[in-house]
Amino acid sequence: MEAAAAEPGNLAGVRHIILVLSGKGGVGKSTISTELALALRHAGKKVGILDVDLCGPSIPRMLRAQGRAVHQCDSGWVPVFVDQEQSISLMSVGFLLESPDEAVVWRGPKKNGSRLVQGLHAGRADAAWALQVTCAAEAGALIKQFVSDVAWGQLDYLVVDTPPGTSDEHMATVEALRPYSPLGALVVTTPQVVSVGDVRRELTFCRKTGLQVVGVVENMSGFVCPHCAECTNVFSRGGGEELARLAGVPFLGSVPLDPELTRSLEEGRDFIRDFPNSPAFPALSSIAQKV
Ligand code: ADP
Repeated sequence: MEAAAAEPGNLAGVRHIILVLSGKGGVGKSTISTELALALRHAGKKVGILDVDLCGPSIPRMLRAQGRAVHQCDSGWVPVFVDQEQSISLMSVGFLLESPDEAVVWRGPKKNGSRLVQGLHAGRADAAWALQVTCAAEAGALIKQFVSDVAWGQLDYLVVDTPPGTSDEHMATVEALRPYSPLGALVVTTPQVVSVGDVRRELTFCRKTGLQVVGVVENMSGFVCPHCAECTNVFSRGGGEELARLAGVPFLGSVPLDPELTRSLEEGRDFIRDFPNSPAFPALSSIAQKV
């Protein structure tokens, strides 16, 4: 099916939207968002990433795009292209916090914007102030602006990295994205029982908001020794798969703890291109084929 022609500054030209959720921080939600986007790109898809993890936007760092500026064109804000081929575009609140003095001109009446938007207009947004504001309920208005005012253009996939847990920001994100279905949730967990318990709440959130669950990913499922290739289950194993089975949603795969993945994220490298023989590579590629 052909995507509809893009309206200026919205998501009409996006074929699939995937919201990446996790019950708590540190389980690898931003990692999975980033690597899913890279794997989809390497499979020939055009991909956008919307980083609405407002309290801890880490994707610009993971894709070595920190400090890049968001510009304005006739159809809205132009997202940052992270590769030369312009096949991955990224919009993150991190770009706004890192360059508060840049001339980011927000469209639309100020009264409809969040306090962060108004602060940027007034030139008074510093990181601490913005953190305080964006962690509050006004974040919803900012998320709506990310959806409506960014010129996403034609995309096969938009991957949306959300904050951990379920909060007002999640509700605002779902409400802002709902008109642009097909919209689905990918839920990230680690294998431990506690993390799996948190994820159960995520699945309840999906059910209550009518969000289709694309599937569950179990991250950090064992450590593959780089010397002998033996897999050690650092945490308990199989919790994600069991959870998916009980909830009646697809299980998309287990991604092992992989030191090369950590390194590639720290260096802002393209793991899918540069580390095809690494333990995490097959799982990440296979997840991209299933979404
Ligand atoms: P979250 O977004 O859930 O807070 P992150 O994606 O930021 O978590 O991941 C937390 C840390 O764990 C990061 O430093 C990341 O590099 C590392 N990490 C996540 N998943 C893996 C993995 N499968 N193998 C190795 N390191 C990982």
